[in-house]
Amino acid sequence: MDVIVFYVLVPVPNNQSNINWLVSGEKIKNLVIDKMEKDLLPNLRENIIEDFYLTPDYFEKDLNTKFGSGFSIQPKFTQSAYFRFHNKSEIYDGLYFVGAGTHPGAGVPGVLSSAKVLDKIL
Ligand SMILES: Cc1cc2nc3c(=O)[nH]c(=O)nc-3n(C[C@H](O)[C@H](O)[C@H](O)COP(=O)(O)OP(=O)(O)OC[C@H]3O[C@@H](n4cnc5c(N)ncnc54)[C@H](O)[C@@H]3O)c2cc1C
Repeated sequence: MDVIVFYVLVPVPNNQSNINWLVSGEKIKNLVIDKMEKDLLPNLRENIIEDFYLTPDYFEKDLNTKFGSGFSIQPKFTQSAYFRFHNKSEIYDGLYFVGAGTHPGAGVPGVLSSAKVLDKIL
């Protein structure tokens, strides 16, 4: 028997939305499976052996992210690249930042680049 493992990334609001994920998590999971079954993978549901999902509650409670955001601050123009949090604190001397929320941006390449930026600053 072939076993396939895959995940679906579904953009959802952070916990400022007050969505009750204990209720909506299961509903959204079923919507995704229905949609995939209809458009992409016929008979998906009956072939699932094991499934689980993570919600903003996981990001907030287990990973300690603000409002359960999975991707730090929203990557809109005024919060992207140079406009993300700077690597050197403007408030406290000797305080520096690296990682997805900082310049230059999210995603592993951006995270590693932010470390390079900080290396140059230091
Ligand atoms: C579902 C999903 C899929 C993704 N897929 C991709 C992909 O395919 N390619 C890609 O490039 N990027 C992807 N990303 C983005 C990438 O994972 C992040 O940009 C990257 O992990 C951020 O790295 P980081 O070191 O800044 O923060 P994190 O990896 O979030 O690390 C921060 C750590 O700090 C810990 N922490 C929080 N508060 C405290 C505290 N007070 N004390 C101690 N520790 C604390 C957290 O628990 C966490 O372990 C994805 C993200 C998500 C959510």
